[in-house]
Amino acid sequence: MADKRIEREKQTVTAMISLYCQGVHGADGLCRECAELEEYALKRLMKCPFEAAKPACSKCTVHCYQPAMREKIKQVMRYSGPRMVYRHPLMALAHIIDGRRSS
Ligand code: SF4
Ligand SMILES: [Zn+2]
Repeated sequence: MADKRIEREKQTVTAMISLYCQGVHGADGLCRECAELEEYALKRLMKCPFEAAKPACSKCTVHCYQPAMREKIKQVMRYSGPRMVYRHPLMALAHIIDGRRSS
């Protein structure tokens, strides 16, 4: 269960960073900064101590991100969150359900 949840979160964060980079940085693929952010976010997810009981990162009390990376991912979420509903509706729905389950 935890593996599937983490796997879904990895796909979602990858899609959100990609939408952000294309829309805001005009990149075809990922620019270096966004590629670094993606790598960082995926590593954090792999090491998340909560596993199956993982909250949504935005609601996490620990928040394991460094402040600079946290600021970057917040910008990505703000931009890509609403756009995910149109671009990746099933992924967006699963993300909402996962978030509710953990709150
Ligand atoms: S922010 Fe919290 S929920 Fe998200 S990966 Fe880090 S520890 Fe896990
Ligand atoms: Zn970028």
